[in-house]
Amino acid sequence: IYILGIESSCDDTSAALLCNDKILSNVVADQKIHAEYGGVVPELASRAHQQNIVPVVHQALEQANISKDQLSAIAFTRGPGLMGSLLVGTSFAKSLAYGLDIPLIDVNHMQAHILAHFINEDSHEKPSFPFLAMTISGGHTQIVRVNNYFEMEVLGETIDDAVGEAYDKSGKVLGLGYPAGPEIDRRAQLGNPKAYKFTKPKVDGLNFSFSGLKTGILYFVQRETKTNPDFVNENLNDICASIQYTIIGILMDKLKSAVKQTGIKHIAIGGGVSANSGIRKALKDAERKHGWTTYIPKFEYTTDNAAMIAIVGYLKYLNEDFSDFDVMATARLKI
Ligand code: ATP
Ligand code: FE
Repeated sequence: IYILGIESSCDDTSAALLCNDKILSNVVADQKIHAEYGGVVPELASRAHQQNIVPVVHQALEQANISKDQLSAIAFTRGPGLMGSLLVGTSFAKSLAYGLDIPLIDVNHMQAHILAHFINEDSHEKPSFPFLAMTISGGHTQIVRVNNYFEMEVLGETIDDAVGEAYDKSGKVLGLGYPAGPEIDRRAQLGNPKAYKFTKPKVDGLNFSFSGLKTGILYFVQRETKTNPDFVNENLNDICASIQYTIIGILMDKLKSAVKQTGIKHIAIGGGVSANSGIRKALKDAERKHGWTTYIPKFEYTTDNAAMIAIVGYLKYLNEDFSDFDVMATARLKI
């Protein structure tokens, strides 16, 4: 079975080819244009998708050495995401599936961040059910109980900003480029995590909140630069390490509560922030300390990619769970 996956929910145009559950190609065109605006500009994102989609799909087919008429089905991201961006991938996927007269499969982007763990890789063990998934990305922060491929229950989520946003907005305060997550992570590894203390939010149950932290960091920087205008430059690594320490603490506290509440000790992470070195290390420590089994995705399946869309397409294909051609892109699609 050959599945072509198409992802266009935010600012990455991606296409991937799967042979059963193995990746043959996974092409990602990211959009540099947003960096100068300090965030994704939806209108520009849709235009760039429109420009990129055919070359990206073409390249994915070529790298996989597969021709269009060998395809079994087309899987695409239906949502959640930016409407204009989703429309490009959705319309393209429909046209191609219609033209080739093969099934169309719609995919939930947040389920895909989780099910990326079922891509067949020699170096990666697939999680066993049930497990807890923590999806930490640019738009979401969720703890999900995964009973089966398509039986998922959100146990907790952010009530305001996503954790990726907390990274990116803190980075903006510190004068770092967009997205700031990777740069904060890099500097955090060179600094002292206990140099500065930021307050953790108090949120009930398994929900998260990150908007207070962002404000806390802003006030902290304003206060310190009053007495020393060079404060940020002189202490950037320590500030980044302290921010990262606080964020990882928030995530791990909630994960521990989720384990306690459900009794499930199998933990998988997914989404852009799962590339973070701090969360990866914290999970490895928890394996030793609390007897958890943790699943950490390969780096290329953390931020947005079409391989994760294609694997969901494959799993749905096996169930013959196909979409009608009047399926619509849905910006606020729920798990
Ligand atoms: P969603 O999946 O919720 O729709 P998205 O697709 O925009 O959101 P992803 O591409 O999954 O988000 O993740 C992007 C986010 O991951 C950005 O906020 C970025 O700063 C963050 N990120 C990437 N690498 C790291 C890292 N090493 N440390 C921390 N954050 C990171
Ligand atoms: Fe994403």
